[in-house]
Amino acid sequence: MPPRSKRGEGQWALGYREPLNKNEENKKNDDGLNVGRRIVDIYSKGGFDSIDPADLRGRMRWYGLYTQRKPGIEGGKTGILEDEELDDKYFMMRVRIDGGQLSVAQLRTLADISNTYARGTADITDRQNIQYHWIAVEDVPAIWDALEAVGLDTMEACGDTPRVIIGCPLAGVAEDEIIDATPQVHDVHQRYIGTKEFSNLPRKWKSAFSGCTSHCTVHEINDVALVGVVNDQGEAGYQVFVGGGLSTNPMFAKHLGVFVKPEQAHEVWKGCISIFRDYGYRRLRHRARIKFLMADWGPAKFREILEKEYLGFSLPDGPAPAAPVGRRDHVGIRPQKDGNYYVGFAPKVGRVNGDILHKIADIAERYGSDRLRTTAEQKMVVLDIPLEKTEAIADELEAIDLQVRPSEFRRQTMACTGIEYCKLAIVETKARAADMIDELEKRLPTFDQPLTININGCPNSCARVQVADIGFKGQLVVDENGDQVEGFQIHLGGQVGASFGKKVRGLKTTSKDLTDYVERVVLKFEEQRTEGETFAQWV
Ligand code: SF4
Repeated sequence: MPPRSKRGEGQWALGYREPLNKNEENKKNDDGLNVGRRIVDIYSKGGFDSIDPADLRGRMRWYGLYTQRKPGIEGGKTGILEDEELDDKYFMMRVRIDGGQLSVAQLRTLADISNTYARGTADITDRQNIQYHWIAVEDVPAIWDALEAVGLDTMEACGDTPRVIIGCPLAGVAEDEIIDATPQVHDVHQRYIGTKEFSNLPRKWKSAFSGCTSHCTVHEINDVALVGVVNDQGEAGYQVFVGGGLSTNPMFAKHLGVFVKPEQAHEVWKGCISIFRDYGYRRLRHRARIKFLMADWGPAKFREILEKEYLGFSLPDGPAPAAPVGRRDHVGIRPQKDGNYYVGFAPKVGRVNGDILHKIADIAERYGSDRLRTTAEQKMVVLDIPLEKTEAIADELEAIDLQVRPSEFRRQTMACTGIEYCKLAIVETKARAADMIDELEKRLPTFDQPLTININGCPNSCARVQVADIGFKGQLVVDENGDQVEGFQIHLGGQVGASFGKKVRGLKTTSKDLTDYVERVVLKFEEQRTEGETFAQWV
């Protein structure tokens, strides 16, 4: 039997240049980056109805713009109604914040945009972006001007492109850091983001660069990740992971076994994304992520193609990174290597708003910091606080419900956008999660074990359903009266990089019973766990 790829997976490198589906056709017809000019010159003047449908539900994404779901359309209509019926005349807009790095001025601009153009909405995503809703196309040029004035943009924040590069929020300041990846994040951004070299990929390309020991960028579930290691000469550099991703076919990234010097990092990143562009599967959209190519090739072949066809030189062998140290978030008050402290705080499931962002900026400035960070866990961190001021700033943040010492439930619950705005959603997520956190804090005030709870509105797993201790995947379920209602399939015992949560046959809950379900599981866990046993081990 010939290998499956011979049947034509739409791989450019094998000569399949003709588009094999509508998405590929759209991308061939016109580069996604070209829509930027049309937004400014035509659509912002003509309004929503003037937008070419191929741009509206395709190329606008190249600038971080998705149409949002019309309010009030229930989950049962997802996948049934046509896009035109589901579309509101407003957009969700993602601002990319590479490495999660923000200044006070940048945060103030993000806050102003939220209040002026986005009805006060602002969510911190689990890829360190800020996401707005209710954006009218007429306002997009003014938003871009405001962002550009402070060095931010929405370029390739969505679409089949190299999206935001995530990085450790403590890059450059963490006490036990292996390497500060900030120069490499900036280097890759400057060289390759917004270039036509990589604006037509088979699908999205998620990157991470990190050098902290807690592996907070969750490299295992990125398409490509460069992770700080020290080689046997004592030099700091990177190991390369490729092919991680969740969604409907979860896979953990595999490392190539190489050692990459910091100055080579951009070339290696470029080589990996070029392999994806050229060899990535384009025939079927649901197989068009690099994890499927990695599953077929394996890391040894990937490395060989990378070295021979793209780099033109061999990389030395390198070590795997050590296991993560401590918790993977950066919540709480901890020392930096320069003697100052960082203060990590937790809004509820990443939801903030324009006024809160202004208050955060004011607080940071008052305490002498000009460095704020978003995290890959929907949280934020303020850097450079002198020890004697840490308690006072923590109190001020907590006074506006940004918890520096959060309950386990607040600290480790994430939720995706869900039915409030997402056209693919089947169920409500953010508000449901916020209610659950409030309720569990009341019912189980002393619970203190690490426990991740990730709530997703559909099988796409934007909030990582398969790698949570308790993962909820939105779907319709049948309640005790035999009615179809919003609910979740439950995955238990997932851990990033170690195991995917187990789907127990038939284990589901209605949305209404979600909190009761978590409470029952947590009580059983507390009752039965042995000393030191984690939730994943107990399950
Ligand atoms: Fe939308 Fe589904 Fe992603 Fe949630 S997981 S944001 S519902 S696509």
